[in-house]
Amino acid sequence: MSVKRGSVKAETWLIAGGRPETIAGEPLNVPLTPASTFTHGSERLYARDDSTPNWEAFESVVGGLEGGEAVAFSSGMAACAAVLNQLPSGARLVLGDDCYQGVAGIAEEGARTRGWQVERLPATDERWRDRAMSADMLWLESPSNPLLEVADLAQICSATRRKGTRIVVDNTFATPLLQRPLELGADVVVHSATKLIGGHSDLLMGVAVTADGNELRRLRHARGLFGATPGTLECFLALRGARTLALRLERAQASARKLAQSLSEHPAVLRVRYPGFGTIISFELADAGTADRACGAVRLIRHATSLGGVESSMERRSALPGQEHIPAGLIRFSVGCEDAEDIWSDLAAAL
Ligand code: PLP
Repeated sequence: MSVKRGSVKAETWLIAGGRPETIAGEPLNVPLTPASTFTHGSERLYARDDSTPNWEAFESVVGGLEGGEAVAFSSGMAACAAVLNQLPSGARLVLGDDCYQGVAGIAEEGARTRGWQVERLPATDERWRDRAMSADMLWLESPSNPLLEVADLAQICSATRRKGTRIVVDNTFATPLLQRPLELGADVVVHSATKLIGGHSDLLMGVAVTADGNELRRLRHARGLFGATPGTLECFLALRGARTLALRLERAQASARKLAQSLSEHPAVLRVRYPGFGTIISFELADAGTADRACGAVRLIRHATSLGGVESSMERRSALPGQEHIPAGLIRFSVGCEDAEDIWSDLAAAL
């Protein structure tokens, strides 16, 4: 008998979920199944349409955590595109003004080629609630990226809505251990599983989760039709990474709290943005040149893009196209699982 999600805490589900039935002599983990096609005679015929045991194991863990059914994709962007591209021509989309630049790119493309009317609002803006009565889709990222503004998801997701308005939350930064938007009334949650869920900077994957049957069918259909399917090895690695998500998050978050404090007391730091939870800190130095020099001087912390790995990493975000709205000297710092004092020694020396 396998463990049921409802009978255990999220931290336990991460470890106990997505496993094969307990059978003497069989492995504890779903073995790697590199297969595109399966012998006729069962419901599983072709991987792109019918998935593989490795996708299913990963989906069962993430779906159970978020409180819905998960659909795994080849990247976070593929998951975001599968949700956004359901919007018809002329649709009204409201998007955070500090959301992941790739998602903003899909919205811009939709505005150009399909006449989407796109409005950008700060995560903390009061108008999100009203927009639930007029927009076709609200796309929230909270905490936002990289300014780490926190939206009042409970308020927005429970606002009175026009029939058909869908609320989507990118939960990459918070993870389902810190925030479960479906429970608050969101329709879909998306993740870049590349980040904290995978946790080791060794794969690209995305996942969309919903508790709505029609939405689930649309997501599976989009994946099968457009073919943004996850790799079998990636699913295996992402699930293996997810097993330790609770441990990694607990440690990195505890370090992030200390580091945010140390940074706020450092004379070279103009401003620290840390929402009080999670593993990402954004801090501002005097200007782009100062920030670049700090990024070039770290040794233990990796100067790299992305976030959510066991290894601490940082980069100057305004160096990226589409990030012109953020202060030039802002560094996004992803706190990893190394010893907090070692991380601080490295950072303080670089500052
Ligand atoms: N959403 C957020 C919040 C992200 O930070 C990213 C990537 O950085 C994505 C989505 C896109 O994910 P991926 O890089 O896995 O395609």
